[in-house]
Amino acid sequence: MSAGELPIAETFVSIQGEGKLAGVPSWFVRVSGCNLRCAWCDTPYASWRPEGPTRLVEDLVAEARGSGVRHAVVTGGEPMVFAPVAALCAELAGAGLHVTIETAGTIDRPVHADLMSISPKLRNSTPTAARARELGGPGAEGWAERHERARINPAALQGLLDRHPERQLKFVVSAEPRRDLEEIDAVLTGLTGWSAGDVLLMPEGVTEPAPEHRAGVVRICVERGWRYCPRLHIALFGNRRGT
Ligand code: SF4
Repeated sequence: MSAGELPIAETFVSIQGEGKLAGVPSWFVRVSGCNLRCAWCDTPYASWRPEGPTRLVEDLVAEARGSGVRHAVVTGGEPMVFAPVAALCAELAGAGLHVTIETAGTIDRPVHADLMSISPKLRNSTPTAARARELGGPGAEGWAERHERARINPAALQGLLDRHPERQLKFVVSAEPRRDLEEIDAVLTGLTGWSAGDVLLMPEGVTEPAPEHRAGVVRICVERGWRYCPRLHIALFGNRRGT
C-alpha cells in the first residue's frame, strides 16, 4: 500500500445516524482494519475480518466531490491506524467538504477534522476468548487480552481533545448503563478541556434499544447534562450495510 492508498470496506451516501450531526446527508468512507476487536462491533467486515480493496486517496476524494453532499464521514474500522488518512481528510477539506472522523481514540495523529467524533471503548466492549473465536475464527482468542490492554489510551484521548475544538465523546453503554457510569467518570476525570455538551451516551445494540434501556440512558443524560445519542440509521434502515 502506497502513501496515497487506503484499504476501503465500503463507501456510500446516507444520513449521519449518530452524534451531533445526526440527520445530515453525508458521504461515508469506511476504512477497513482496526486495532481493537469489540465484542459487539457492528462492522466486523472492517475489524474482525477486514475486507475490501485498496483505493487511491485521489479517487476517493473525486467520488466524495461528485456525491452531491457537503459532509464527509471518515469511519472504520479505525481510520487513525492508517497514515494516509491525513491526506484523505486534508483533500476532502480542500474540496470544500465538512470532515468528520470517527475514532475509538486510541491513536492520535495530526489530521484535519471539522468534527472529531471520539468513542472510547468501555469494559463492556471487551470480548471473551469464546466470543473472539466466534467472530475472528481459530486463533483470534488472543484479542480478548489485546483489546482490553489497548482500548483506553488517555494520552491519545487528551491529544485528540487538545487538537480538535469541535469534538464529541460518544460512549456506548450496555443494557445496565449505571454499571458503565463509574468507568465513564474515571475516563472523563482523567481528561481536561471537555464540557458536558461534548458527552453523548449511546445504547449498545444493532436493533432499536428496549424501552427500559433507553429510559435508563435518558435518566443519566438528564442528571449529568449529557446528550442521548440515537442510532438514527438503525431506526430508519435496520442493521444494513451501506446505510
Ligand atoms: S473500535 Fe469500532 S470498528 Fe473497531 S472493533 Fe470496535 S466497534 Fe468495531
